[in-house]
Amino acid sequence: MPNLLYDALFAPHQGSSKPLLYLKDGAVVSYDAFLRQAARIANALTDHGVKPGDRVAVQVRKSAEALALYAACIRSGAIFLPLNTAYMPNEVEYFVGNARPALVVCDSDAHAALAPIAKAAGARLLTLDGDGKGTLTDEAERCSDHFETVPRGADDLAALLYTSGTTGRSKGAMLTQANLLSNARSLVEAWRFTDKDVLLHALPIFHTHGLFVACNVTLLAGGAMIFLPSFQVDEIIEYLPRATSMMGVPTFYTRLLDDPRFTKDLTRHMRLFTSGSAPLLAETHVAFEARTGHRILERYGMTETNMTTSNPYEGERRAGTVGFALPDVEIRVVDPETKTVLPDSEIGILEVRGPNVFKGYWEMPEKTREEFRDDGFFITGDVVSIDKDGYVQIVGRAKDLIISGGFNIYPKEVELLLDEQEGVLESAVIGVPHPDFGEGVVGVVVPQKDGSLDEQSLLAAIHDRIARFKQPKRIFTVDELPRNTMGKVQKNILRDRFAGTFQ
Ligand code: ATP
Ligand code: MG
Repeated sequence: MPNLLYDALFAPHQGSSKPLLYLKDGAVVSYDAFLRQAARIANALTDHGVKPGDRVAVQVRKSAEALALYAACIRSGAIFLPLNTAYMPNEVEYFVGNARPALVVCDSDAHAALAPIAKAAGARLLTLDGDGKGTLTDEAERCSDHFETVPRGADDLAALLYTSGTTGRSKGAMLTQANLLSNARSLVEAWRFTDKDVLLHALPIFHTHGLFVACNVTLLAGGAMIFLPSFQVDEIIEYLPRATSMMGVPTFYTRLLDDPRFTKDLTRHMRLFTSGSAPLLAETHVAFEARTGHRILERYGMTETNMTTSNPYEGERRAGTVGFALPDVEIRVVDPETKTVLPDSEIGILEVRGPNVFKGYWEMPEKTREEFRDDGFFITGDVVSIDKDGYVQIVGRAKDLIISGGFNIYPKEVELLLDEQEGVLESAVIGVPHPDFGEGVVGVVVPQKDGSLDEQSLLAAIHDRIARFKQPKRIFTVDELPRNTMGKVQKNILRDRFAGTFQ
């Protein structure tokens, strides 16, 4: 019996001397070397009692070995469970307690802190450091580079990926082999990836973007990746000439635009820049084109659904939109109160159905039931509208909607207006408890470099531009907005910080 995902992503490259990874230290890892290492790791996992269907929780820095561990899990039928490297041991304790992995793999720096946590969960603990060394690698070195691939079918789980925790506690999304493979196929096709591609990879590999979108697409196409540990402007500028394509979060692009060395000449040979995980400001899209002549291709997805929409490769990549549903994905916009499907151009909640959509939340049957409609559509919780040409625009998240004095306020509309004001670099608009209105609107603004902002003048500047009930009652200036590693603004942190504003 076959192993659907392994057979598509990895097996075809067995024995190939073609490069898969170009590492920062100059090392080149061929497909063959990578797959042998993955086979050795798969043997080490099996020796440690990891069985098909067991979870392997992995909190390690990005390295070729870390990616080989992913391949090893797929090959041995274990469920890969990557964790954000920023999580502290007490946070890891929640994930380990929730997922009950058979094995935890961590950095040797975290070993002492995680040992009692792994023990309490009955999990073994091995280490893997950023340089590829550790007890996992030691064990793997003693193992054979032959491994009998474990059969796995379309509906078997390949990964348990926790959501980013932007709106609340992270939930474990159960992703099947077919979920990952169908999406990789759609994206290779949609973005025209081939074995000639060299992807500049500076994203973390614990998140759907850097792991599944970037790596699965490259593996399926048979391309290569310049695999950098993190995003550093100097390194991007150094490696860009050797790449054909790059996938980024919006902050990658704003930081590159801040650097005068990032020019049209430097990017002339590039085939594709994509953006996702957080909204790309239309202004960044425009500035990027003015500087480089390239139009960034923005797409949208989430942990639970993989990628759902994308701007077209050929045809207009429209700034401020995330494009159209991928060919095998169905989308609709639904009124959150009446649950009826809305006509285009009206604002509602996006629902998604297709082979890309996850199987449910790990051990949360109740939550899973709440987030799916009877006809199989998944309720994303993202507020969107579809423009007259069919482009999806993300307006925000349902959980960020502000209800003040009985009126609905979409923060994005107010943020766009604040962003337009002189001296404002960016903004976030939130609702915080208010004794009369339920919630009161608060604006949080970041001034442009070396600038300062004045609350009264900002309030005066927007006074005639937007309905009174949408106007912030207070505007606070901060040095920067709190963001996670994927560039997502953490509005929950802002809501906590400004919770006492009206009380
Ligand atoms: P949690 O579900 O735990 O609150 P999260 O939703 O941030 O966390 P992810 O699955 O990493 O966790 O992120 C998916 C979300 O990211 C989407 O629901 C959407 O709100 C946002 N997103 C992704 N791509 C884009 C994009 N191109 N533009 C705007 N938002 C995007
Ligand atoms: Mg989410």
